[in-house]
Amino acid sequence: MGDYFQTVVDRDVTEADAAPLAARVVAWLVAEGVIGPDRTEPVLGRDPGYPPGPRIREVVDSSGWGEPWQGGGLDVAVTRTVFDAGQYADPSSARCPLCERDVEFQDRALQEIPGAWDPFSEAIEDWEAGVEALVRCTHCDASSPLVDWTGMDHCFAFGALGFTFWGWPDLTPAFLEEFGRRLNGHRTVLVSGKI
Ligand SMILES: [Zn+2]
Repeated sequence: MGDYFQTVVDRDVTEADAAPLAARVVAWLVAEGVIGPDRTEPVLGRDPGYPPGPRIREVVDSSGWGEPWQGGGLDVAVTRTVFDAGQYADPSSARCPLCERDVEFQDRALQEIPGAWDPFSEAIEDWEAGVEALVRCTHCDASSPLVDWTGMDHCFAFGALGFTFWGWPDLTPAFLEEFGRRLNGHRTVLVSGKI
């Protein structure tokens, strides 16, 4: 299960505030014994992450996991990032925040609709570059910020701060709720997947 990951993404923090907020949350996780204090744990394709702490079992639901299991590192990203769900990051539709209708990316036979994804793909590039990223709705013709479109949360989340837990069983709802409070009550999204 080492390739399974869950990322808690802060949707509201600014890039300037991301690093100091990350430091406060890491200090809280260390104080709670959820992670260890030093970045010693290897993380695939990234700098080493924080190792799991002695109280990891209190914040996860490991009921479906065979014993013994060993959680991996926690990676913290503090720059503008598109967090995706790895091999399953393939949304079938997205919902316009204004008219609340779905823009489909696949037809009924689950075949890709040519060109349907292009406005989103371009907006993702703009968002990553830090410029205005708008997507025009094919139903109501209005343009809305990429980050306001819904229905892609299980595949993508956009934010300047993300905490990726590698190889941990599912984080408990109570832990995620407290996590959100520690992120100053910002809107958060949980992205999970495998690579
Ligand atoms: Zn619309």
